[in-house]
Amino acid sequence: MQKGQAKKELKKQLSDLFKSMDFVNKNFLDSEKLGKKEFHMFFNIYQQLGLAWEFLGLQCRHWDGYQKTKDKEETCKICGKVKGVNDFYILLPQKGPKKLGAKVKPNSKKTFEIKKDAEIVNDTIDFYGALVNVDVHNSYKSSVLGKGINIAAERIVTVKEENVECHIDERVIHIRLRDRDRKPGGKRYGGFPWEIKKKDLRHFPVIFDFNEKYRFLGLTILK
Ligand SMILES: [Zn+2]
Repeated sequence: MQKGQAKKELKKQLSDLFKSMDFVNKNFLDSEKLGKKEFHMFFNIYQQLGLAWEFLGLQCRHWDGYQKTKDKEETCKICGKVKGVNDFYILLPQKGPKKLGAKVKPNSKKTFEIKKDAEIVNDTIDFYGALVNVDVHNSYKSSVLGKGINIAAERIVTVKEENVECHIDERVIHIRLRDRDRKPGGKRYGGFPWEIKKKDLRHFPVIFDFNEKYRFLGLTILK
């Protein structure tokens, strides 16, 4: 659907909904003649219309800007939502690329006393069976292992697909095979290729990509 048409349609749906809400409010919720049971029924209808408002509002991109209310809040001219208040739900299009959140990076030079205050986002999505986690935080003080250390500000992206886990931060790309044979607490070694004997290197199904100047371009791991 075209943007203009989507906006027009949404405006109409919202305006009809607001009329229904006003109608229930004026004629039933304000009425003193209603019995307790009836009042409760209309109260529920009003709540359900409120839920419809919340879901319809998810489609609104607040195209026409905001207006100031008597309480000095800014509300969207179309959907009436208060500016800056987070939605409880997220709406994603069925077709086309899905975008969830804007790209965020650490945004402060400060070291926070507690982890929670340093957190910018730490969210996970299960996308058709692949898990993606984005963890972005500013620097904070941690007392893991009984010692006070400063955890650096970082943006860490982790992707998990079956037994492969890929961790990307600003300094390192780490790929871990979550091998079922790997025993917990078992030893793990690491080394640059030139530190490992050629006969041992043959165990590793890794191919390096590089250009004519031996600049590293990537690698392939055969499963
Ligand atoms: Zn809006």
